[in-house]
Amino acid sequence: MGQKAKRTKSGSAWMHEHVTDPYVKKAQLDGYRSRAAYKLLEIDKRDHLLRAGMTVVDLGAAPGSWCQVAVQKLKKQGRVLAIDLLPVAPMPGVESLEGDFTDLSALNWLEDKLKSGRVDLVLSDMAPNISGVMLRDQARHYELCELALDFAKTWLKPDGAFLVKVFQGVGFEDFRTQMRQAFSQVHIRKPDSSRDRSTEVYLLGRGPLGNVAAVDEAIVTSLQE
Ligand code: SAM
Repeated sequence: MGQKAKRTKSGSAWMHEHVTDPYVKKAQLDGYRSRAAYKLLEIDKRDHLLRAGMTVVDLGAAPGSWCQVAVQKLKKQGRVLAIDLLPVAPMPGVESLEGDFTDLSALNWLEDKLKSGRVDLVLSDMAPNISGVMLRDQARHYELCELALDFAKTWLKPDGAFLVKVFQGVGFEDFRTQMRQAFSQVHIRKPDSSRDRSTEVYLLGRGPLGNVAAVDEAIVTSLQE
């Protein structure tokens, strides 16, 4: 954190919370790049999302703690494709792109990596930088969620799953409806490691509905290019 942030009230409150947060300490001890690791670990413990041999796409992956969890659970079998605006420091078992998921070039990178293969699990922990204008921030966040959902609908296997971070409030119900239209089951998860005061929750969609034709079309198109 920079000097400017430390001098502000919210900056020092954030620093206090950060240094006293048990998950921050635990992440340091366990060698995870961030406390976010425990959110995925908790959800995976309940929902059994990650298994050896899977293809996992991690959107908004930096600094890379979800990648670490995925690599461990995949047991060196399968692959993890990660995208973030920020660099994800190299990690065995992870192919990463420093790029904007909203850019076509990021989608092209993923499609090129996947070629004829479909995806078992799409993770999106993406969160845009906060401007402080709530409506604008929510709108930007849900744009990212919708793009991630489009990607999941196109590329998931018929038994695939999509886990996405959302913030309750404006846009939440609309997005949940879109999830329900896209998946046979949609669950809300709020891991203990997600801070109580945060409106953050995760939506988990399982069993994509009616995606087979879209996937086949996308695969044929990518093979033709
Ligand atoms: N799951 C990560 C982990 O375990 O290390 C933490 C992700 S962090 C909460 C949210 C990330 O979303 C940030 O690193 C941010 O750069 C990324 N992000 C936001 N907008 C993005 C975009 N348009 N394309 C790619 N990544 C984006």
